[in-house]
Amino acid sequence: MNKTFETLSQLEKVDKVIADFQKELDALPQELKVVEDEYFEVKESYNNLKNELESLQAEKKEKDDLLEEKKEFVKNSESKLYLIKTYKEFNAAQKEIGNAKKEIKELEDEILDLIGKIEEKEKQFKEVEAKFNEISKKYEDLKKDVEKKEKEIKNKIEEENNVRNKFVRDLDKQILAVYNLIRSRRNGIAIVEINSNTCSACYMNLPPQLIIEIRKKNKIIQCPSCQRILIWNEDN
Ligand SMILES: [Zn+2]
Repeated sequence: MNKTFETLSQLEKVDKVIADFQKELDALPQELKVVEDEYFEVKESYNNLKNELESLQAEKKEKDDLLEEKKEFVKNSESKLYLIKTYKEFNAAQKEIGNAKKEIKELEDEILDLIGKIEEKEKQFKEVEAKFNEISKKYEDLKKDVEKKEKEIKNKIEEENNVRNKFVRDLDKQILAVYNLIRSRRNGIAIVEINSNTCSACYMNLPPQLIIEIRKKNKIIQCPSCQRILIWNEDN
């Protein structure tokens, strides 16, 4: 039975180590999340500005093409004016050329306006692009770091679980079941020492008869109040 108490204590030590590793593991996503949130926020601004810039550039391209077309039309029409035979046709052609020139002027103003807008948008985009590159690197680095840590901790947990399994094999199944049940219900602490005749977990005063029983180490004795397994520390 002495061996059982020893194994139980060792098992609990391993379980505490595993629980601590598990806590570390559970905290990792939160570590990543802060940077991840910032990353997605900047990425959204980056994409929005990129789309806005591209649409302004597309609009300018359309107007540039139209301007070329109009200029070509004016050039052609003017070069053919001398071929026109009647006043009526001549006036009509002049009117058409006049209208095209008016449209050209309007297009040039619109293009100038667009160039201003594009320049301003490009400035904003470059700023956000630099920020995006920076946060992307930070996010990728941290992600790799977290993945590495995750792998390391999982390996450690696996090692500890191998040790745990050895203790589990040595224990009586019923005692193990009691241990597991208390651990799950009592905040991960199933085994407690007696300190000045009290349970050191819940501080209940233990009756002298119970102390005697515990000292004998003949069987598992649970605290009447918190149900944890009580063990006698020989140094007491
Ligand atoms: Zn207790």
